[in-house]
Amino acid sequence: MVMLVDAMDRVLAQVGKRVVRCADRGGTITVEACSTVRAAPCPNCRSWSCQLHGRYVRHLAERLVLDRRVVLAVEMRRFRCLNATCPRRTFAEDVYALAGRHQRRTRSQAKALQALGHALGGEAAARLAASLGLHSSADTVLRELCRAAPGRKRPAPRVVGIDDWAIKRGHHYGTIVVDLERREPIAVFAGREAAIVTAWLREHPSIRIVARDRAGAYSEAVHTALPAAKQVSDRWHLLCNLRDNVERMLHRLGPQLRQAAHQVVVEGVTLGRQGAPRGACLRGWNA
Ligand SMILES: [Zn+2]
Repeated sequence: MVMLVDAMDRVLAQVGKRVVRCADRGGTITVEACSTVRAAPCPNCRSWSCQLHGRYVRHLAERLVLDRRVVLAVEMRRFRCLNATCPRRTFAEDVYALAGRHQRRTRSQAKALQALGHALGGEAAARLAASLGLHSSADTVLRELCRAAPGRKRPAPRVVGIDDWAIKRGHHYGTIVVDLERREPIAVFAGREAAIVTAWLREHPSIRIVARDRAGAYSEAVHTALPAAKQVSDRWHLLCNLRDNVERMLHRLGPQLRQAAHQVVVEGVTLGRQGAPRGACLRGWNA
């Protein structure tokens, strides 16, 4: 335990904290740390302040240690901004290296959830996380994934694909938009109503071509938001259309095809319902 406290103390010292107490109760190790920060910069105007406004304790869940839950209870100091022109009156010290804003877990635990979510998706990642002692929900895993998304600026999409996907097959569906030139998803919505897609398309006037399924909602959304955009069927639905049309044609021409088959002569014998014997040579039609 002493070694654990020393290690924690060294890590927390990097964000201006000092471990004052460590308790192991009920399978949870609670590490209490006080703040050693005497002054901090305002996140709005960047002017430094040493005028203390108040303090509070922030609880952060950390990864398991020796099969025990670890919770950091760190003191946070709030300062008063001394810049009269700054709209922000008070601000809390920055512990960005330890945990993101409003996060209730350390970056270390958040990274573990992000890795699980990236490999398995929300539901499966949450189940595995629970067995690893990282209590979380599918929504939390997805939120962590969004938080970890790179902040790089993407080029405006020009060719996109829109399709639905099952959140719960037969009950709940969502909509996904993929940049087909860059081959990466760029938006996901809950639901597949035209209004949702219309609002998103209006924010992306750079789109010139939309590949979509045969659903009327997406067609209506594109027509409303981007009337100049070209709508095309995606590859999967294009093949579906081809298959449906071939099936309809065969169904419509069925009598003629059966009649033609009866008229085929194989070595002087008119074919019946049993068809041609193996290796038979077709001499011609209407012979
Ligand atoms: Zn300020």
